Amino acid sequence: MPRDPRHDILFEPVRIGPKTLRNRFYQVPHCTGFGSEKPGSHARFRGMKAEGGWAAVCTEEALVSVDSDFWPVVSTRFWDDDDLRNLALMCEEAHRFDSLAGIELTHGGAHARAREARVPAVAPSQLASDYDHFVVPKTMEPDDVRRVQADWVRAAKAARDAGFDIVYVYGGHSYLPLQFLSPFYNRRTDAYGGSLENRARFWLETLELVREAIGEECAIAVRLCVEALGPAGVELEEGLAFVRLADHLVDLWDVNVGSITDWSKDSGASRFFPEGYQLEWTGRVREATAKPIVGVGRLTNPDRMAEIVRSGAWDLIGAARPSISDPFLPSKVEEGLYGEIRECIGCNICVSKAEWGSHIGCTQNATAGEEYRRGWHPERFERAENADRDVLVVGAGPAGMECAIVLGKRGFRRVHLVDAEAEIGGCMRWIPELPGLGEWARVVNWRRIQLEKLRNVEVILGERLDADGVRTYGAEIVVVATGARWAGDGRTYLTHDPIPGADASLPHVLTPEQVMLEGKVPPGKRVVVYDGEGYFTAAGLAERLAGEGFAVELVTCLDKISPVSDETLEGPLLRQHLHDRGIGQRAGVVLSGIEPGRVAATDEFGEELELEADAVVLVTQRLSNEALYLELRADEDALRSEGVEALYRIGDCVAPRIVAEAIFDGHRLAREIDAENPAVPLPYRRERISLESAALP
Ligand code: ADP
Ligand code: SF4
Repeated sequence: MPRDPRHDILFEPVRIGPKTLRNRFYQVPHCTGFGSEKPGSHARFRGMKAEGGWAAVCTEEALVSVDSDFWPVVSTRFWDDDDLRNLALMCEEAHRFDSLAGIELTHGGAHARAREARVPAVAPSQLASDYDHFVVPKTMEPDDVRRVQADWVRAAKAARDAGFDIVYVYGGHSYLPLQFLSPFYNRRTDAYGGSLENRARFWLETLELVREAIGEECAIAVRLCVEALGPAGVELEEGLAFVRLADHLVDLWDVNVGSITDWSKDSGASRFFPEGYQLEWTGRVREATAKPIVGVGRLTNPDRMAEIVRSGAWDLIGAARPSISDPFLPSKVEEGLYGEIRECIGCNICVSKAEWGSHIGCTQNATAGEEYRRGWHPERFERAENADRDVLVVGAGPAGMECAIVLGKRGFRRVHLVDAEAEIGGCMRWIPELPGLGEWARVVNWRRIQLEKLRNVEVILGERLDADGVRTYGAEIVVVATGARWAGDGRTYLTHDPIPGADASLPHVLTPEQVMLEGKVPPGKRVVVYDGEGYFTAAGLAERLAGEGFAVELVTCLDKISPVSDETLEGPLLRQHLHDRGIGQRAGVVLSGIEPGRVAATDEFGEELELEADAVVLVTQRLSNEALYLELRADEDALRSEGVEALYRIGDCVAPRIVAEAIFDGHRLAREIDAENPAVPLPYRRERISLESAALP
């Protein structure tokens, strides 16, 4: 199918200062957790997006000074020229595919913990960081101002020498330049504080210095949160005033909203923010500048992108998450392959992995972060050496669907994906039905299209296979992907034992699947949802039941409601949202007994309490559906005699994990299905300092 001519506008080149972008797709700076620790992973990760058609690919935060160290959060450091060689690798990758390379030079100011460097944070004023309350910075003296600015110029020159085309004087996310600009951080009474002109001085001076040093050779970009949506930054009118003040020094305005503390409003989860939501604020930047503007908002729809450009609001379509979920999004639009676009679901697992796991990953794109260490390419699949076999995949949940697709792309003669239910999707048949999670249905939608297109993959629904059925199916390779279920006895990580009275065969005790799939309705009006997991399921069920008119109390044995959602930037918004919907919230409470009409519990100090409840929904722990696999495994002779050469299991059937891991597991097995022992992942390339490269002093 040829490209829709309405999208042609997205493929026009755009000039930014001395450089030209080949189209309007721009991968804005975003964290990966690779930083200076994993330069190979970083280079290949960005290179993949360049190959996929992004006209520019940028680094994550690249810190200019030692006192901007964010450790233990991993970031890129540009402290000395040793960093140059590693970063040059990323530039080479970008240039190989005719993309520009951008570097997010920045300084964290008040927020920099500097736990590795052991130097105090520095900031415009001595006010405790709102990002890490335990950091109280030093007020910058004039010497500190000059030192940091000199560091910025040094890093900018080194960035140019490394091959970067776009150099940021980055103040987004309430980093140092924005801290000077914002009265929330800046209480100075010298030339750097007070009026807007004074508060802008640090940023303007730094821009001037950087421009003087490299402005002829590199495009100078500024990232500015034009509206903090909270105290930590500036409001829109002042943001626009700064754009006017600095416009003559800037080649590209990269604009967003939020701050580091309100990052949840920048990397907005789909639960709370629709596609394109930032336009409400960043769409107004055009009032203040005629220079190129790039904005973000989890955009995956090319119609919307073209509309934005045509409206004049932005010149470039910026993306972090949509480019992680599909590094080839621009090429797919260019070629009119719209159904192939693997749209981001807005779950922010990428954020949680980059920030807390130090290695980015993605729910939708199992290859994200695996480009270097496993050599995976999101669009290229080699024919498997054993592709002449037939494969049976039992279970069409996320793991089974992904595995069957990759096996299909690896050229297997026949792949049968069999599921007991009438629909594919497994747990993703009902999770997107939870309030706010509708976009998560994209996990199934993209895979449904892929499965339909693959001629060697057949989907068979409504067929529950037992061990005999599997053995005699006629496949040489069997993959069991039968998933997991929620425990019906209330066991949690705390007790490892059933809760007395917890039995999901009783009318007043329910599991998530019973509520969502079987239509089991709580008797009475008062419902306790008991959460031992701490992610989206309990909160989602509580909100759904409250929406149906039940009086719901969300009770957790964890010390906070839904702490895992904090890692995905949803926690604070979620707790507020539940509160606004009248849902009671109790943390640190352990259920000790369930009876019709009441539950017994202990609070965080061990005091006993009783809650009135007509029903309890148990969201305590999941258990693998492994019986089929274990039965098959127990009789190897029976397998062999029916011609089954290999038996594997994947996804939640191995151990219940987040959807991203189930998909990864299915993908991994299919990628390595012709390895010596596919059940055990092949070792991946590790990046570590060898003694050769780190000689002892
Ligand atoms: P995962 O996240 O690991 O993919 P899910 O729980 O989402 O796991 O999906 C498991 C799927 O396996 C479900 O759709 C379920 O209907 C299917 N399934 C489980 N047991 C069988 C079986 N014996 N035969 C066919 N399908 C099965
Ligand atoms: Fe989008 Fe989720 Fe992937 Fe992040 S992890 S890019 S939010 S699908």
